[in-house]
Amino acid sequence: MAQKRDYYEVLGVSKSASEQEIKSAYRKMAIKYHPDKHLNDTEEQKKEAEEKFKEASEAYSVLSDPEKKSRYDQFGFAGVDGGAGGAGGFTGAGWENVNDILRDLFGGGFGGFGGFDFGGFGGFGGDDGARGGRRVYRGRDIRTRVKLTLAEINAGCDKEISLERNVPCPDCGGKGAVKDSDIKECPSCHGSGQIKRVVSGLFGMRTVQYSTCQQCGGEGKIISNPCKSCNGTGLVRKRQTVKVHIPAGVQDGMQITVRGEGHGARNGGVNGDLLLVIEEIPSREYKRNGADLLYTQILTISQACLGCEVQIPCVDGTTHRAKVDAGTQSGTMTKLRGKGLPRIDAYGRNNGNGDLYVRYIVYIPKKVSREEKELLQKLDQSENFQPVEKNNDDRSFFDRLKHIFD
Ligand SMILES: [Zn+2]
Ligand SMILES: [Zn+2]
Repeated sequence: MAQKRDYYEVLGVSKSASEQEIKSAYRKMAIKYHPDKHLNDTEEQKKEAEEKFKEASEAYSVLSDPEKKSRYDQFGFAGVDGGAGGAGGFTGAGWENVNDILRDLFGGGFGGFGGFDFGGFGGFGGDDGARGGRRVYRGRDIRTRVKLTLAEINAGCDKEISLERNVPCPDCGGKGAVKDSDIKECPSCHGSGQIKRVVSGLFGMRTVQYSTCQQCGGEGKIISNPCKSCNGTGLVRKRQTVKVHIPAGVQDGMQITVRGEGHGARNGGVNGDLLLVIEEIPSREYKRNGADLLYTQILTISQACLGCEVQIPCVDGTTHRAKVDAGTQSGTMTKLRGKGLPRIDAYGRNNGNGDLYVRYIVYIPKKVSREEKELLQKLDQSENFQPVEKNNDDRSFFDRLKHIFD
């Protein structure tokens, strides 16, 4: 697929469209681009309709799911498929909504969808996902958390995730029986796993419906002597390590979908996805607000009075030499432009960096010696050490910055 189009654009609705408007927009497109409507088209036209149909279905799967919609609104494609690009990793509630509409429109069982392959979109979820009348298994998704430091979030990183997952049984190759002769074709459905029925559908078309075969439970096969290692399930549990790339600029709570790294499926089906929920390890040095960071630099009384030079640690590991003016007030903020975290735009692209705010705080000792007390009292007698009304320029500057990190 070429450049992905904005989901709202695909469905032809505005960003403020209601749930109902989104639903009816998708409904119209599903009717228009459904393969049954293009049976007499050229191959090229069929292909185009299929692409349009898939594109609309993907858009609707996201926009019809409140959680995904809000992530998409906030992070674009990165929010819903981890910024991997292409048609990646949509599972769960959104696809159920797609299924509901299609079932309403075209009847149960997805009878007419023979030529369609939704596998590229993460399938229609669950172990029972049937398509094209043939049962294709899809492994379950695995959801896990991944903890990241701010430095890792800043640079992006590769993580090794250890997880226990179902993999095809090595002894029977996922078939559930060691010998092929122990697997027999189901006599009821003749191996298809489904019972076919022709019914009159919408638009005066005849629709083929399928229901799961009762005798074999949709397997299409009957196993007489199950594999001992997996009890005929075709799957065994294994602890494995998965290498995952985490893009820079992610936020706490974001979910990244790694396609095909979830549980395996039996009978050569497709793997589920690995869903990684980002957990940000709170930083001791910085406070984060989106792509901006706040760092607090403590000054001694004399540093603040006389001015000095300080080393500000940046999140990328470098240090920034900053000049502190003589007479710097406690609470003064300065901004190091572009020294914050990468900013991900609505399409998952890096759109420059946030800023690093530095706040200066003057350290006041809790206890002083008698000698120090005398020195301070002496200073206090100097007129120069009496507070004066701050000028308005300073005040508005503080007011602007004060609440950024509250
Ligand atoms: Zn086995
Ligand atoms: Zn059967």
